[in-house]
Amino acid sequence: MIIADSVFNTKTPDSIGEGIVTNVSAEVLQYQGLVESLAKEYDVAEYSGIILAMMMQESGGRGNDPMQSSESLCGSIGCIQTPEESIEQGVKYFAETLKKAEGDVKLAVQSYNFGLGFIPYALERGGYSKEVAIEFSRMQYQKVKHTGNYSCIRPESAETGACYGDIGYVDAVFSYYDYGGSTVVIGGNFVSPVDGMNMTSDFGTRYHPITGEQHSHKGIDFACINHVTPINAVADGSVVFSGVQNGYGNIVILQHAPDLFTAYAHSSSNSVKQGQNVKAGQQIAVCGSTGDSTGPHLHLEFRTEQYGGFQDPKSYLGL
Ligand SMILES: [Zn+2]
Repeated sequence: MIIADSVFNTKTPDSIGEGIVTNVSAEVLQYQGLVESLAKEYDVAEYSGIILAMMMQESGGRGNDPMQSSESLCGSIGCIQTPEESIEQGVKYFAETLKKAEGDVKLAVQSYNFGLGFIPYALERGGYSKEVAIEFSRMQYQKVKHTGNYSCIRPESAETGACYGDIGYVDAVFSYYDYGGSTVVIGGNFVSPVDGMNMTSDFGTRYHPITGEQHSHKGIDFACINHVTPINAVADGSVVFSGVQNGYGNIVILQHAPDLFTAYAHSSSNSVKQGQNVKAGQQIAVCGSTGDSTGPHLHLEFRTEQYGGFQDPKSYLGL
């Protein structure tokens, strides 16, 4: 899995699908026309955006096998010589998984990573879910671990013993594809600021990860899948600050009401400008690790004043 260096903040309209690809590299976008015409040929025209998002996750659009489809073609790596061959085989294989998955798009996407054997397994269990993917990965790992070719690198895999394939594949692919319905109303009038809402650090007193000193954590932290995960506004509002601040790195501050502000810190880049109005669920930044941060995450604050009155975000978000 390679994440491209050149990342676009602008959303690029996918001319066919309902959703749009977002934050994919220039290397991926150069194949947009080819992917769209092949998707049409293999009768999956409306999924060209998903296929581009998969390419981003597979290779960042680089190399001679950007869809990493050698294995599905000939059972081993290296039999594909050109990007065109790779993309045609990738689209064909995705079309096959989608058909077998009976239209369950997430199941088709996960099967692109796990292999076709996952499809009947998941269909018997009500279709794709992360839990079913973890179960399958764990089961497969028990069968193949003696080969020594699989390792539990991802913390989530190591924890669950789900070390076959990539159990985070669907989340990763969908971080490059915005289909509008991805934001979830999570409590009161707020929507999720980041996919998964995996809280890694709570509001209140804690020890600083770098200095080791005790201090008061003025917000909560959420894990990000990678450096291109979108960060979304939790509610309608206006941008009162977008730039860099000491410790926070890149930070966006939104105002939602005279006495309610939210702040989103450590992003790799901000996608909005001061004075701009935003809608709930709109992307305002890209997850990152700028400022005092040890890895990509979102630091989210709720404030009653632009620069003070720190509140526990959990009570707003229903966590
Ligand atoms: Zn934090």
